[in-house]
Amino acid sequence: MIAVSNQPRAAPVVQRDYVSFSAISSYQQCPLRYYFRYIEGLEEPFVSASLALGGAVHGAAEYHFNQIMMGNSPPDHDTLLDAFWDDWKSRTETVDIRFGKQEDIDTIAKTADRIIAAFRESDIAKPNGNIVGIEEELRKELIPGMPDILGRIDLITETDEALTITDLKTARTRWSAEQAERSGEQLMLYAALAKDLIPGKPIRLEFAVVTKTAKPTVETLPVMFNQQRVERTKTVMQRVWQSIQDGHFFPSPSPMSCPSCPFRGPCDAWQG
Ligand code: SF4
Repeated sequence: MIAVSNQPRAAPVVQRDYVSFSAISSYQQCPLRYYFRYIEGLEEPFVSASLALGGAVHGAAEYHFNQIMMGNSPPDHDTLLDAFWDDWKSRTETVDIRFGKQEDIDTIAKTADRIIAAFRESDIAKPNGNIVGIEEELRKELIPGMPDILGRIDLITETDEALTITDLKTARTRWSAEQAERSGEQLMLYAALAKDLIPGKPIRLEFAVVTKTAKPTVETLPVMFNQQRVERTKTVMQRVWQSIQDGHFFPSPSPMSCPSCPFRGPCDAWQG
């Protein structure tokens, strides 16, 4: 592995006193992209429409759950669509939007309209039990030698039986039960962070997966809590963190990551 030679080791330009799961998984996808974003703090010259759409769906869902938590009626379609566009604007007003092939603002508008309709009809829009957290930030010293681990949990609900942690995903296609299980590390970490919220209460984990297809689906997929996976996830994070501290930054090109990467210019110029 090659270290970035002109940067001091273990002396990040961008200082944070916490580490998130998404930062660690960003390093796993491409260490150099992590470096540009989290160490150099480079501005991102564009945002992909796909990323902005996913964020705006989260924004609309957050608005929806907040209304329910406040005891109001669930928002109607147009109100929720307004919440979507408010969030979209906040993400795109200062940067260019990079649309994918055969994608423009009209196709995004149609997709958003269909997603909002599917979301309102889905079970996830009518949570079981009391909502106790929305976009809840939990942080804890969880892993020896690392800063606090920070998790932002989309939805936490409570019934007599359990505390349920839901992570909302937007995806190109439907997820299988196996795919949800395979993607469960993030939820394992959230379970570790939320363990003391209501001591002794069992924790259930699930993904709510919204597809961006012509006919969007919204499905809830449970993930089994497994203490061994929690420990494994913590070990992976610790190893990745050590790599970051040791200055191991290098490009990891992939057809999945590079086309939407906002740092292609600095990446091309990078010489190690
Ligand atoms: S362009 Fe690809 S290899 Fe370069 S930083 Fe971005 S994701 Fe990594």
